Amino acid sequence: MPQMYSGGGAMSLIEARGLSKSFAGDSVLQGVNIALERGEIVTIVGPNGSGKSTLLRMLAGVLKPDGGEIRHAKGLKIGYVPQKLQLEASLPMTVRRFLNVPRRVSDQAAERALARVGVSGLKTRSLDVLSGGQMQRVLLARALIVEPDVLMLDEPTQGLDQPGQAEFYRLIEELRAEMGCAVLMVSHELHVVMSASDRVICLNGHICCEGTPEIVRNAPEYRRLFGSGTQGALALYRHEHDHVHDENCGHGAAHAQEEAH
Ligand code: ADP
Ligand code: MG
Repeated sequence: MPQMYSGGGAMSLIEARGLSKSFAGDSVLQGVNIALERGEIVTIVGPNGSGKSTLLRMLAGVLKPDGGEIRHAKGLKIGYVPQKLQLEASLPMTVRRFLNVPRRVSDQAAERALARVGVSGLKTRSLDVLSGGQMQRVLLARALIVEPDVLMLDEPTQGLDQPGQAEFYRLIEELRAEMGCAVLMVSHELHVVMSASDRVICLNGHICCEGTPEIVRNAPEYRRLFGSGTQGALALYRHEHDHVHDENCGHGAAHAQEEAH
């Protein structure tokens, strides 16, 4: 039985040790240790199916690990934006009303959150007419309403073009400076993310490597997964995926999927 309890004193915002998770007998994550400190921006990168969303969901407390331990600092508030949203975009609902889901919020709190992410003008707009970038900002605004200590974002810039991505990450950095929150993100946009993060964690069923963007960029484990070119990240990943035989990064979910094909 995993433990989930609040620690006291001077600890990290979130500390997790030895996390593991399987779905239907397939191991997705093994032996993951992670700690998140106040005010830092940490990005999790990794191939499709490498367990990034699963890890984020466990750390956010919405999914139980099979093994290991997660501690949240006392009274920790998390603003979590999942990768997949069930209702939203399809609904003809105004932005203002959407901010009341799941909990009703005051007009003042709603205004403040929208202003923070630069979309005050969208209040009466219907969700189904928003651009991708506007929708991401609205989702972010909703996550900010709780005044989170930790902002968790799962591929928040999916579907945005590169200038849109860069702008979004700049906004995240501004929010971090303004609110002092820690940010834990999952991303695919390796090169944009690399410069916007204090720390990068490369995941593939387990933590392959981690550290400052420079350290990770130059780590052989990372290069094996993503290559070293500026454009070729995903192409090289596919290449690696076709020849899964490295010992350090080859096991885990991506490997299991490959074998299932
Ligand atoms: P990533 O976010 O890195 O792409 P995920 O964490 O979403 O990867 O998924 C990792 C693996 O776990 C995938 O093979 C996925 O199909 C599987 N998985 C994730 N969530 C579930 C679930 N609720 N039920 C069954 N399998 C799941
Ligand atoms: Mg995911």
